[in-house]
Amino acid sequence: MEITETKISLVNKPNSRLRAYASITFDDSFVVREIRVIEGKNGLFVAMPSRKLQRPCEKCGFKNPVGYKFCGQCGAVIPIANTESSKNSEELKHKDLAHPINAQFREYLQKKILESYEYQKANMPKD
Ligand SMILES: [Zn+2]
Repeated sequence: MEITETKISLVNKPNSRLRAYASITFDDSFVVREIRVIEGKNGLFVAMPSRKLQRPCEKCGFKNPVGYKFCGQCGAVIPIANTESSKNSEELKHKDLAHPINAQFREYLQKKILESYEYQKANMPKD
């Protein structure tokens, strides 16, 4: 499978690590949008589109984002599962909606997107 098109929308938000949104086309036939380019501690990386995980409140059934300590509807305390108290809890709060399933393709995808991002940034009109 090949990436045949990459579109980058630069994001200029102070206090945010988000640098751009990317949309990519595979084999001229399948598009994935809302891929994010993020400035991490060890440089830029690509985050696949994801959604926030939710868990229903035990009392009222209201769906709260994972990680909330109190129910947004009734205020009941939400017990924290062991898996969520770990340091990488950010990762557990989101679920990737579309993502590569092997390291080789992940690398190819990240390289393509970051190349386009750098190109776009370098060719940005200056004002
Ligand atoms: Zn509740």
